[in-house]
Amino acid sequence: MQVTIDENSGFCFGVIHAIQTAEDYLRDHHELYCLGDIVHNNEEVKRLARLGLRVITQEQFRELHDTTVLIRAHGEPPLTYQIARDNHITLIDATCPVVLKLQQRIHDFYCNPDKKNWQILIFGKKGHAEVVGLMGQADNKVIVLSSMEEINKVDYNRPSMLYSQTTQSLEQYYQLIDLIRARYEAVGHGDMFHYADTICRKVANRAEQVVEFAKRHDTILFVSGEKSSNGLYLSDICRKANPNTFLVSHVDQLQDIDLSGKESIGICGATSTPMWLMEEFKKRL
Ligand code: SF4
Repeated sequence: MQVTIDENSGFCFGVIHAIQTAEDYLRDHHELYCLGDIVHNNEEVKRLARLGLRVITQEQFRELHDTTVLIRAHGEPPLTYQIARDNHITLIDATCPVVLKLQQRIHDFYCNPDKKNWQILIFGKKGHAEVVGLMGQADNKVIVLSSMEEINKVDYNRPSMLYSQTTQSLEQYYQLIDLIRARYEAVGHGDMFHYADTICRKVANRAEQVVEFAKRHDTILFVSGEKSSNGLYLSDICRKANPNTFLVSHVDQLQDIDLSGKESIGICGATSTPMWLMEEFKKRL
């Protein structure tokens, strides 16, 4: 049996930077709070917990004073920075530069007096940390579109500006754009609709790479945390290219998968999957 790890899998630079920042701090300190999971992968969260990284919720954050808290790659809304100032919390900000740029764009648009009557739309997952951070840039006066059906929420007599959460599917984003554009055109307001392509290419390009990798192997083990939206999206794409795809998060799950007779196993993962975890799968196989 030949086992190959996809060399394009593994953390994106935003996550690598956040983890590196935490590890650097923990070299000289015994603990560091992190607002939410630093990455949507339990195994990596457990490894960092052993180094002293303590994941806290928003509620716990509000109760903290005079300490240091890490902001992960997904970013945070302005309210988090305000609470930190009020409670004398030092923030170590590891917001991914791609997310930071998108936050700034939304903020600038929202503050532009010429755009007062506009609707800001975000294609994203409701409640996802990045989306919460983006909504905060516009005082939460945002319409979040999580599915195509939700385009009914848009007022087609008012102009709108559409952005996307960075980890959304490029294909679905352009489907959504076509649907919204058609609705505006149907009421004679085609020029009122604008959008920005704000999908991170680290994720978008992964789709093509994953398809190519999946087709080269008998069976695919897609390693990802169950909470990772990028993981669910990519594993779905993987399964379409190779129906013999298994979504796994822990090596013990291997005992439930029948790999007898398979000659070529490919191991790949999401942008939140650590390389060491994929190597652990390879070793166990
Ligand atoms: S997927 Fe892209 S935007 Fe998101 S953290 Fe990684 S590099 Fe940044």
